[in-house]
Amino acid sequence: MQGWDKVEALTADAYAFGLGETRGLVADYIPILAETDPELFGVCVAEVDGSIHSAGDAAVEFSIQSISKAFVYALVCEELGHDLVKEHVGVNNTGLAFNSVMAIELNYGHPMNPMVNAGALATTALVPGGSPAEQWELIRQGLSRFAGHPLELDGEVYRSEMATNQRNMAIARLLESYRRIEIDPLKVVDVYTKQCALRVSARDIAVMGATLADGGVNPITGEQVVSAAVCRDTLSVLAANGMYERSGEWLFEIGLPGKSGVAGGIVTISPGKAGIGVFSPRLDSAGNSVRGQAATSFLSRSLGLNIFASDVSPTRLEP
Ligand code: GLN
Repeated sequence: MQGWDKVEALTADAYAFGLGETRGLVADYIPILAETDPELFGVCVAEVDGSIHSAGDAAVEFSIQSISKAFVYALVCEELGHDLVKEHVGVNNTGLAFNSVMAIELNYGHPMNPMVNAGALATTALVPGGSPAEQWELIRQGLSRFAGHPLELDGEVYRSEMATNQRNMAIARLLESYRRIEIDPLKVVDVYTKQCALRVSARDIAVMGATLADGGVNPITGEQVVSAAVCRDTLSVLAANGMYERSGEWLFEIGLPGKSGVAGGIVTISPGKAGIGVFSPRLDSAGNSVRGQAATSFLSRSLGLNIFASDVSPTRLEP
């Protein structure tokens, strides 16, 4: 892309910048995640013209976790439309943790937004299909189209989370009591846990992000995965809610829509330009990768990606 001749070098610089960051803790509430090597770190920029720039462990796979919420939301919006999903799941930030039960109660049973667990469970429940197996297949295939190749389930991660998933089961039951989930809530938790256990690399999530940056067309395969209108809606929801209760801080520092997951991935989207994928398992207290935030913030600044930045109009500068 024009003016982006330095992006390969800047990707390496972002990696070097992130490497200096050693704060944060690997997630352990899903037991298997605690075994991840905390030093893993990968950065990838996928441009909408299909160029890919990688540094570090960009090909190492990890479970997509909450990053799946962004793409399942896009698929459901594509199927059911802007208004229905907006009413049923919502778009507003809770200001509370991703797995908050209190947020549901404070909002009279409304899940609030699709990027926290309550809203993600309500969204997964809306996935078309006559059975949980069909819903799961639709999700797996849909996310694979975003990535440009078939994504596989990490059975170990899935089983580890299913064995310790009581909180998500409670959230799903609570939503059922408020009629925000109208099918078997425990089956919804099962499909949701599978979607979170899909294996991806930093490169995969960069391409998935680039698809949202490119009006819904995967820049590698050329396939139209969702419409441009769905991308626009998804990105606004990410801007408001993608980093949970830290979404305001993220938007202030980085100025781009992004979504994190507890395995340590973050996808960031620069509309019309690129997707950025980062992976490093050490997290801050909200569950966002610390090195991932550092590398993304470096790229946003050095490539001038903040969507809120403007220059003085040239007409005003003329004498
Ligand atoms: N599967 C995880 C959960 O539901 C996803 C959470 C996350 O990535 N923040 O707890």
